[in-house]
Amino acid sequence: MLQPRPGLRDVAPYESPQFDVDTRLNTNECPYPLPDGFADDLAKAVRDLSLNRYPDREAAALRVGLADAADHPFEGTWAANGSNEILLQLLQAYGGPGRRVVVFEPTYALHSRLAWVTRSDVVAVRLEPPWRIEARHVAEAWAASPSVAFVCSPNNPTGNVQAEETIRELVARRPTLVVVDEAYIEFGGDSVASLVRRHPNLVVVRTLSKAFALAGARVGYCLASRDVVDDLRRVRLPYHLSSLNQAAGLVALAHSDEAVRILDAVREQRERILATLPSMGVGAFPSSANFVLFRPPRHAREVWRGLLDRGVLVRDFTDLVPECLRVTAGTPEEVDRFLSALEEVLA
Ligand code: PMP
Repeated sequence: MLQPRPGLRDVAPYESPQFDVDTRLNTNECPYPLPDGFADDLAKAVRDLSLNRYPDREAAALRVGLADAADHPFEGTWAANGSNEILLQLLQAYGGPGRRVVVFEPTYALHSRLAWVTRSDVVAVRLEPPWRIEARHVAEAWAASPSVAFVCSPNNPTGNVQAEETIRELVARRPTLVVVDEAYIEFGGDSVASLVRRHPNLVVVRTLSKAFALAGARVGYCLASRDVVDDLRRVRLPYHLSSLNQAAGLVALAHSDEAVRILDAVREQRERILATLPSMGVGAFPSSANFVLFRPPRHAREVWRGLLDRGVLVRDFTDLVPECLRVTAGTPEEVDRFLSALEEVLA
């Protein structure tokens, strides 16, 4: 008889429901494939790899590229398999049994899931619309004396940004490690990365999955102090980032001009969704990310089902934010299909 850790089989694998439909607007991916030249450059880079050898375990070339792009010191820049792995490594290094991890909910559920994986205790501080972290929330967080506090800005799934002043207030309390998840920062809001140099207990986590259209290659990174990166090096698996991921990340950085053009197109569709939903009697929350959280005037689960029946998949967030669904800003055609399916469902 297998004996997994107590409680393991009480939790479901972390995944969002996938269905084989035409219009998938449920995982906040970039809707555009990478530009033509990217595939050619990547093919060439892969041909030149020595895959019989282990990868550079320090991912130095990629980290130099990421550090330069972010104007951050190389020693404080770290890369891993998507920002999810960065989040896991941070908790392996700074969480653990008997240590508390604060999350401000509603937010990206993986933060508390990874806290559970690393056997850290989760302290959830509940925010109310418009989901700004106020002084009383900070006080509630500090009452728990956490080792780690996660802030997601722009936040998934609500789309709002936290003020720089709030982050300053949070990092003032050492020795808590404040992790700001900026997975969507390229779509809107001001990064707090420049604060890292003055605050060694601040880590900014970013990804190439969204704005750089590289979700399939799994490249995430963080901007931190040298000490934090040295700690992450202590928990990472040897050769954790494959040569293929590293090469893909470098080629994507070389094509960052094209990525910026894609951003404008995605933002345009986000604004179009935000402008159109209210005219359909649908509540839409302002968003600085590549998605919109919305509240239909009818039972949200029925609306979700009705959209799916019409080949449009959005994300059901009713468990986290009552009666709310989240739609990713896709191509103009995808957004057309979403809006007309929604109109039909609500008719
Ligand atoms: N942070 C947030 C807030 C996210 O929404 C996501 C993706 N859903 C991630 C991190 C992880 O992205 P990745 O591992 O692809 O970098």
